[in-house]
Amino acid sequence: MNVSRRRFLAASALAPFASAARPAAKAASVKEAVAAKAQPFDLASVRVLDSALQQMSAHNRDFLEGLEIDRLLHTFRLTAGFASTAEPLGGWEKPTVELRGHFTGHYLSACAQMSVSDGDTLLRGHGNAVVAELAKCQKANGNGYLSAFPPSFFDRLKAGQKVWAPWYTIHKIMAGLLDMYVLAGDEQALHVVCGMAGWTKRWTDSLSDDDMARVLRVEFGGMNEVLYNLYAVTGVKDYAEAAHRFDHESFFAPLAEGRDNLKGLHANTNIPKIIGAARRYELTGDERYRRIAEFFWTQVAQHRAYATGGTSNDEHWRSDPDQLAAELSYSTQECCCTYNMLKLTRHLFGWSPEARYFDYYERAYVNGILGTMNPKNGLTMYYVPLATGYWKVFASPRDSFWCCTGTGVESFSKLADSIYFHDEDGLYVNLFVPSALDWEEKGVYIRQDTGFPRQGEARLQIRTAKPVRLTIRIREPYWTDGKMTAPTVNGTPVKAERAAGYWVFDRFWENLDELRISLPMKLHSQPMPDDDNLQAFLYGPMVLAGELGREGLTAEMQSGGDNPPELTHPAAAPELRSGLPIEPVERSPMVFRTKGVTPEIRLIPFHQVVDQRYAIYWRIKPAAAG
Ligand SMILES: [Zn+2]
Repeated sequence: MNVSRRRFLAASALAPFASAARPAAKAASVKEAVAAKAQPFDLASVRVLDSALQQMSAHNRDFLEGLEIDRLLHTFRLTAGFASTAEPLGGWEKPTVELRGHFTGHYLSACAQMSVSDGDTLLRGHGNAVVAELAKCQKANGNGYLSAFPPSFFDRLKAGQKVWAPWYTIHKIMAGLLDMYVLAGDEQALHVVCGMAGWTKRWTDSLSDDDMARVLRVEFGGMNEVLYNLYAVTGVKDYAEAAHRFDHESFFAPLAEGRDNLKGLHANTNIPKIIGAARRYELTGDERYRRIAEFFWTQVAQHRAYATGGTSNDEHWRSDPDQLAAELSYSTQECCCTYNMLKLTRHLFGWSPEARYFDYYERAYVNGILGTMNPKNGLTMYYVPLATGYWKVFASPRDSFWCCTGTGVESFSKLADSIYFHDEDGLYVNLFVPSALDWEEKGVYIRQDTGFPRQGEARLQIRTAKPVRLTIRIREPYWTDGKMTAPTVNGTPVKAERAAGYWVFDRFWENLDELRISLPMKLHSQPMPDDDNLQAFLYGPMVLAGELGREGLTAEMQSGGDNPPELTHPAAAPELRSGLPIEPVERSPMVFRTKGVTPEIRLIPFHQVVDQRYAIYWRIKPAAAG
């Protein structure tokens, strides 16, 4: 096939952004028992081109780069018997707080992710430096143990005495080290995490199953997940055996039988265990663990999530499924839960690539991740208040270090994650985000341009040195209501199959071919499952927030310290009439207003709300009876 000169020139001008900065990613040593039907691209292959997302990423990078390494290491060094004169960090990293050290683990994961997603060699170097110092601490401890608190915490755990969550913290450190190895190629990090896994194996081996069952009552993060991941990387069976000890059977058993046992449980304690179950299925092929993961996901994403895609109230699932109307508070939707549910969703999509997974993912990503960073300074949230009249509270730079500060720096280190998946034949376009994909294996570069959500359209341009056969699948979001108009290639309408919620374009693509799709958005409401007259309003996937002003709000009230503050004195919002009581404001994209109430209230996308009170769920007057 002839390639025109114009096309040839454009193709030769491709800038494969990935290869230059890409650290050598480490291949797995154990072959997965379950072949994924779709896989995410690695973070080095995708770049976000959206300026708001780039700004968030830059804020996150500044925060990470500004963290003083000696402060991150302070309590690790003291625990290992070294002197340290660094000023201790505050919040949950204080030397007296039992969770200390957890953030250093998240920090390593974030540095590893930034080193690939952003080609950030400075942060990779910071990560390498922290790994090297942690290795010294581990060597001084002498038995593989590595933590910012002493091993006596584990004695207390074993004895059933009160202690916060030592395994939770160890999980974060192990996951950070493993990320530094797998993503950033740091061999020393693998050595250190294997030492920790060896200590873990010996500790768990010393416990009977009954003792272990008691230990598992205390939050342990994703210890099963990280040990399965380490087994996958190294092939060392001991790590898989240690992982099994953290598979929480009393929690899994009802889920395997399709029973929702979640009422009363702490939400974020349990989501990571399910990610571990997902890894067990992938590595062993044991269908039971797939059932557990799929049933859990369905219950949480579809029966226990708010319109924003978030879950939990006061960190717990406090009600039966589909009973959420009484759950709205200022401490709904812990950010860690959203982070972990997105991670879990990726696994389920890999097993069964269906649009419904990314319908959920998109909603949680837009409202529950993007909406949780302060765009002025990059600080992130803990809870996302969903009761009317509250406001967003952001962490303090050095005096919070909450669990969600940790998952926050990870989330904003991988904003391009999961926009695209692939299989051998082609591509899944899951999210509508201006972005570029450099698909090295296929020699294809794909650029997605979209003004979404301001404009209901997306264009994919293919750049290739020679014509290439690819199946491009584009998600048909649930919120388009089946109203996407016929897609075009180079301006000509084309036929496409529809399967599993995706438009499927299977053809040869030539250089500079352009695929255009419409993304018609409309206003719609989402009532609470147990109260039709309590409704949130959405435009496409974006939850809208009524702007309730700043009255009585001070800077102190919007900033957390050691812990997120208790919020009091919420503002009220008016009842709205039934039907669709809001409408777009002319000539103001993404701005809406209430109808039929005085004064009218403006609504904007929730993820753009920063420093004011807001309303998400509105009380609706029942339609007049007679
Ligand atoms: Zn959290």
